[in-house]
Amino acid sequence: MVQSCANVASVRATKRIAVIPGDGIGKEVIPQAVKVMEAAGAAVECTSFDWGADRYLADKVTVPPDGFTTLAWDYDAILVGAFGDPRVPSNVHAKEILLGMRCQMDLYANVRPARLLDASLCPLKGIEPKDLDFVVIRENTEGVYGDLGGVFKQGTPDEVAIQEDINTRKGVERIVRYAFEYCASNKKLDGSPRRRVLMCDKSNAMTHAGGLWQRVFKEVAVDHPHIETQHMYVDALAMQMVRDPRGFDVIVTNNMFGDIITDLAAGLQGGLGMAASGNLRPGKTSMFEPVHGSAPPIAGKNIANPFGAILTAALMLAHLGMVGEAHKIEAAVLEAVREKKTTADIGGTLGTREAGEWVADRVANGLKPRKFKAYVGDPDFHDGVIERVRQQATEVSVEISGYSGARYIVRFTGVESVISHNPEGMVLYAMGEAEAELPLRHFYFANWREPDEDGGDSKLVIDARAFSVEKA
Ligand code: ATP
Repeated sequence: MVQSCANVASVRATKRIAVIPGDGIGKEVIPQAVKVMEAAGAAVECTSFDWGADRYLADKVTVPPDGFTTLAWDYDAILVGAFGDPRVPSNVHAKEILLGMRCQMDLYANVRPARLLDASLCPLKGIEPKDLDFVVIRENTEGVYGDLGGVFKQGTPDEVAIQEDINTRKGVERIVRYAFEYCASNKKLDGSPRRRVLMCDKSNAMTHAGGLWQRVFKEVAVDHPHIETQHMYVDALAMQMVRDPRGFDVIVTNNMFGDIITDLAAGLQGGLGMAASGNLRPGKTSMFEPVHGSAPPIAGKNIANPFGAILTAALMLAHLGMVGEAHKIEAAVLEAVREKKTTADIGGTLGTREAGEWVADRVANGLKPRKFKAYVGDPDFHDGVIERVRQQATEVSVEISGYSGARYIVRFTGVESVISHNPEGMVLYAMGEAEAELPLRHFYFANWREPDEDGGDSKLVIDARAFSVEKA
């Protein structure tokens, strides 16, 4: 059964979105994501589908006839919540809907960005947003998730259970290629290029499958001589992600390892409630879902964090070409985190609906204008917004949109160190002071609203020998 839930049908550029909230907290967080997309003025027309446990329990239908064909032909993208309900212990509906969608629509690339919005969200000491900006590219249609295998002599002392791990050359090669192409064409949040693809496997123990992954990785790497390659066993990778996640850039891995390490990565970002993902097939209708599941213990209580779903909607909009709307949404979520307008899992006191409404309101009515504590240098650019920070060897350039709308580039040369406490490249409402500390100069951009004297947790501190200002 299909029911229309919104809006915008105007020009042809409007994208058609199939919305499937599913079960548990999916039903609570997805309406918030839809609300925020509408608040952003995204040119989307959403149609809601009732696939999930309720429908399965009512009429035993998991996916209606032609369901996947309808999604693939009639929609530009699919926004999904989660599937899983204790009333369906076999989880058959989740398998048929979610795994069915991934496999039958051949959504082979599961793209899971791991980005830290604010240092306060990371359980690791000393990790700042600029330190955590990597992407896991998980193979999404093979591995151990095909449910191939069986049980022999069940219930006897000789019982045997076999779970097959499928790895085809076609499947492995296309996901590895996707990872290299992703690396080549997607920048980090601070505008710097991505440089390295790391393949993670367990080829020392799983020699047959691992051997195929190893061979393919080496072959594909030859076609991308500018991209560095690296390899880690999954156990070592898990340890390194916790010890120091700074070096990661693009990680490619199989279905199961990708599932596990992206829960770990979600933990680094503030928990499962903060992580977004896309299930992609280049050039075809793709599906977007938060990393979390249906979370039965917290479902129906208005306490689930909606930000993972909201950031997933932003990822979908960016994929559909609505990059401005996506940035607006991400900036509003960032502000919500900084202002503690969040659910309890990340330290706030709001409910799911209230947190969603706060973000939707910010997206619709603009982020709060902020004042700035001080300025130095050319007074023309005081009260500005840092739009982008680019760093190369010993040079840093900071692009600033001034109060009057003019844009300036402040170029620092002879840079000794840069400390940033912000997701560079996103809207950083900060502009501040610089003190001369000869022979080096110590430049300090700070946000006036934050708690400590010098501007609190929004900081960009640059030690450099010289700087210049020019109009962009
Ligand atoms: P699946 O296997 O379907 O991915 P899962 O077993 O990994 O699901 P989830 O349903 O994702 O588990 O959730 C596990 C726990 O994490 C939940 O019980 C809840 O405590 C927490 N959690 C997950 N998502 C959220 C959220 N959006 N907000 C707050 N807490 C969450």
